[in-house]
Amino acid sequence: MILRYYADADVREWHDHTLRLFRTLYDTHGIAVEIDRIDEQHGTITDFPGEIRSSTPGDVYERDLKRNRALNQTIEQTPSEAFKRYGKPDIAGNVAVVDDEETVQWASTLSGYANGYRPGVASQTAMDFLEDIATDPSNRLCVECLSLLDGDETFCPECGYEFP
Ligand SMILES: [Zn+2]
Repeated sequence: MILRYYADADVREWHDHTLRLFRTLYDTHGIAVEIDRIDEQHGTITDFPGEIRSSTPGDVYERDLKRNRALNQTIEQTPSEAFKRYGKPDIAGNVAVVDDEETVQWASTLSGYANGYRPGVASQTAMDFLEDIATDPSNRLCVECLSLLDGDETFCPECGYEFP
């Protein structure tokens, strides 16, 4: 599995913070990371430990999100409600968990406001998700196999890894 960032977040600060968290997740937990750059607005990304691709919101929507049944089960809205507002793809700033078959299993649906956090709907924002994994890997994601978790497991139901 791999963590994917649909870049760039509108606000420079969230963008930089997302990149920092991705580097941390790679360095401290060995989680593979990559970027689909669909709205480039904050300059060159350097020193990133994964692939960076250029893409368009439309292509990413078609490939990753549209009629994605796995995603439909892990987010509250349908993919078209969450990522296509007023008929136009609205994806930049979000992050996704992608499995080995290249299927997006979960994606944040709110890039948040202010500093990228959103109290009350934290489970849907990119930054809250990334910080959860960075600080407490057993909460949202198994760092061994990158399975999604409910947050109260003592071991990973997918791979059996026991959380410290
Ligand atoms: Zn696992």
